[in-house]
Amino acid sequence: MIRVEGLSKTYQMGAVAVHALNGVTLEIRQGEFVGLLGPSGSGKSTLLHLIGLLDEPSGGSISIQGTDVLALSDDERTLFRLTRIGYIFQDYALVPDLTALENVVLPTLALGLSEREGTIRATDLLRRVGLEERTDHLPAELSGGEQQRIAIARALVNSPALLLADEPCANLDSRASTMVLDLFASINRELGQTVLMVSHEEAHRRYFGRVVRLHDGRVAEESEEMPDTAG
Ligand code: ADP
Repeated sequence: MIRVEGLSKTYQMGAVAVHALNGVTLEIRQGEFVGLLGPSGSGKSTLLHLIGLLDEPSGGSISIQGTDVLALSDDERTLFRLTRIGYIFQDYALVPDLTALENVVLPTLALGLSEREGTIRATDLLRRVGLEERTDHLPAELSGGEQQRIAIARALVNSPALLLADEPCANLDSRASTMVLDLFASINRELGQTVLMVSHEEAHRRYFGRVVRLHDGRVAEESEEMPDTAG
């Protein structure tokens, strides 16, 4: 599903070069739920951005569903992102003056679907994330957890094979975090989406099928997680 090889990213800050990624090689299979863990500054967000085609690496290769994504033209890349990748941000990134429903419909319009078809899909997904009663609310009228569930519905609306989530619970209390993590787990299980999630919370490990740990821009340890039966 995802094959990353020798990926590097260097940010040039004036005279100083910051090596955010130093040759990351990684493979994620279709249907996996992978947690990307590691200390602050270890390169987690940089790696997610590169896989999400939001930025370009300094070296290495990225293949998603057999496509060499770094070889795509700008237009092909935009279409690839719209149809294959759902991205969930730490701060939800909803459009403030659109309702919950309109926010979820938006990516379908970008793809050229009719408003009717977009509304059917969005309504269905808002039900899936438990917010069918909130369709006409603006983001500011919703809690953080509700906004993030809307962002998840938006990420799913074009049925992408891959969901990328960058610390989706960073701004949520523990109850809302649990709800969001349970939602990702059920999406992964029931809809079959591959999920790659950045987290710095060790407590989230029990949700992941596998953990990839970064340290100083390198993969430090990869382990198969045992299901947590204690709770
Ligand atoms: P993490 O997500 O694990 O906290 P990041 O990927 O955000 O780590 O950052 C990795 C390193 O790259 C850090 O040293 C960070 O300061 C640096 N970095 C990240 N983004 C930029 C940027 N846009 N410009 C310069 N340096 C950056």
